Amino acid sequence: MNVIQLHSGLWQRLQARRGQLPHALLLGGRRGLGKFDLARAFAAALLCERPQESGEACGACPACNWLSQGNHPDFRLLQPEALAEAEGDGEDSGKKASQQITIDQVRGLDDFLHVGTHRAGLRVVLVCPAEAMNRNTANALLKTLEEPAPDTLFLLVSHEPERLLPTIRSRCQSVPVPLPSAAEARAWLAAAGVADAERWLALAGGAPLLAAELGGSGESRLIEALLEQLARGPALDPLAAAAALDKTVKAEKGGGAAPMKRLMEWAQKWLVDLSLAAAQLPVRYFVGERERIEKLAARSDAQRLLAFGRKALQYRRHSEHPLNSRLFLEDFFLGYAALFERR
Ligand SMILES: [Zn+2]
Repeated sequence: MNVIQLHSGLWQRLQARRGQLPHALLLGGRRGLGKFDLARAFAAALLCERPQESGEACGACPACNWLSQGNHPDFRLLQPEALAEAEGDGEDSGKKASQQITIDQVRGLDDFLHVGTHRAGLRVVLVCPAEAMNRNTANALLKTLEEPAPDTLFLLVSHEPERLLPTIRSRCQSVPVPLPSAAEARAWLAAAGVADAERWLALAGGAPLLAAELGGSGESRLIEALLEQLARGPALDPLAAAAALDKTVKAEKGGGAAPMKRLMEWAQKWLVDLSLAAAQLPVRYFVGERERIEKLAARSDAQRLLAFGRKALQYRRHSEHPLNSRLFLEDFFLGYAALFERR
């Protein structure tokens, strides 16, 4: 099952626009829905010289071959260098790769946009994720969008379209990418061979590609280690928990966001679930842990949970570069243990 089948309705709507393409489309939606793959498939379909009846690229013509080899003369991909490296496309320059799309990357489009197209008469620029641009870079891109080169389509992909400059958003036609139904998501995960799919899907808030990523990554070790501590509730030993998690975090290598940040994201989701349970609402993320969460919520109270949940957001923000990870975790677990103290 490919991403086009996962979003078949949206794909048809995109195909219907082929005849009258705007200068820029903005594919927005939460992380893990396959927006980038979908945008790439659309770019391939537009550049393909013998598209299939469904509109999909043939995968065999010269244009398709160039695209898959990363050297189609009418296609540019703007993404943070760190992302390209993580996918093995980037060149390892030896220095720390940028997490941002740089202004030089945007300026590098100038020549590309001002010579004639090579093949089918259409040029495509894919920008992902569009929120990974600082203000200067975004303004440079805006200039390009304001004076559109002929026969050029910009495809912007964003996990957080509300964070883009309003002026950029207003230059793009918005294409919201919806959450697939539970049945579609399950079919996707089954086809991807993900074991324990329900659990990962719940953890990913229903986003199938994120669920597959979680299920296939070493993430389970991080989550299991965290849940082992959090689930102790009133019996938690904060200092021992901090020591154990500090070890786990330090043993995690690379792979996307820093492990401490990911750990704090999971911790915050756990707290959201505790707050939901305290309000007699169904848990959202750790569906498999529902009973345990409800029991723990009953030993605390909604007000304290809510207050600590807000604090957890701050932990999350400060988790990228804690000065001392052990102390950082001790502070967190002391606060967490206090949730269950009798008053
Ligand atoms: Zn083709």
